Amino acid sequence: MVEDQQPKRRRTVPVSIGDVVVGGDAPVVIQSMTNTDTADEVGTAIQVADLARAGSELVRITVNTEEAAEAVPHIRDRLEAMGLDVPLVGDFHFNGHKLLERHPACAEALAKYRINPGNVGRGARRDTQYAQMIETACRYDKPVRIGVNWGSLDQDLLARMMDDNAAAKQPQDSRDVMKEALIVSALESAERAEEIGLGHDRIIISCKLSGVQDLIEVYQDLSRRCEYPLHLGLTEAGMGSKGIVASSAALAVLLQQGIGDTIRMSLTPEPGEARTTEVQVAQELLQTMGLRAFTPLVAACPGCGRTTSTVFQELAGEIQTYVRDRMPEWRRHYPGVEEMSLAVMGCVVNGPGESKHANIGISLPGTGERPVAPVYEDGEKTVTLKGDHVADDFKAVIERYVERRYGS
Ligand code: SF4
Repeated sequence: MVEDQQPKRRRTVPVSIGDVVVGGDAPVVIQSMTNTDTADEVGTAIQVADLARAGSELVRITVNTEEAAEAVPHIRDRLEAMGLDVPLVGDFHFNGHKLLERHPACAEALAKYRINPGNVGRGARRDTQYAQMIETACRYDKPVRIGVNWGSLDQDLLARMMDDNAAAKQPQDSRDVMKEALIVSALESAERAEEIGLGHDRIIISCKLSGVQDLIEVYQDLSRRCEYPLHLGLTEAGMGSKGIVASSAALAVLLQQGIGDTIRMSLTPEPGEARTTEVQVAQELLQTMGLRAFTPLVAACPGCGRTTSTVFQELAGEIQTYVRDRMPEWRRHYPGVEEMSLAVMGCVVNGPGESKHANIGISLPGTGERPVAPVYEDGEKTVTLKGDHVADDFKAVIERYVERRYGS
């Protein structure tokens, strides 16, 4: 359930990206990015559709070549033919000024441009090329994310700040200078964009790093120094549990402090793993923090020596999958169902108590205990399931509860 005690959000200026609002009073928006070659318009449209259907409210695609820029409006058309209006964000580096200039249909089809100031030319060319991209954003009335990254920081700015630091009476640690350079790069680029004519309400900022403590420190500082909406993400988070833990640790601390208007979990998929995992993890992070609700989550105990079989783990997994599969239909007919909570517990030690805290809970018998499984609905024991069909019987209980509680 969405908690009553939500963290107070930092005040930011709302930015509209198509029909999606980032910042202001809007809920924290989930976004993701494709890993297809954007020039492959069919493959990219399919992956964007998968991510959008999984719950990604914005999807970013690389626009790195003439062919990719050419494909963008066709990808947009294909998505519309599938009934999907998810805003597409173009990720530009190095040649973005040229691609946006040469491909007006691409500039128009995108809902937002991501510009990395560290990768826009060098020296005097930097300002011209950056200005060219911002002018295009103004011409097509598109918002921009000024996305600074630890791995591609503006080297001229960094060198200048390192020199100033070396000449200072009390020089800072060079890592701290680098973090300050990230923030300065983002804020100076935003200021320049506004000078060129981009509205204050058309700018989102990100400063991505791969270290959890560094990221938290930079965003805390950034949030004190501007009112632009902030895009959170731990860059290069990594694979599997490492990526999930590192991203969740960093983002949870910031979200709890009210910092962050849109998030991306930059997870590296394991071979064969769906790209949509990062969207599911982002949803679960926001839901477990009580910030948003997407799909009923199943609480389960870890199991111990009182449960020598895997029956209850299997049931917990089966119920979570069942609930996810049922959500598209439930969402249409039962508003609010995403806030329902479920519990599948292994034995009577914590089972009945935890089950009573959920909307629906089941407490399976631990080894050696009586082969019965009491079910609790809104804290009251309503039925006791027995036999080989506990999973199916429990699903039927859930269906009846959903209809009764959330049906009109
Ligand atoms: Fe073990 Fe029972 Fe606690 Fe689950 S509820 S961890 S089975 S004691």
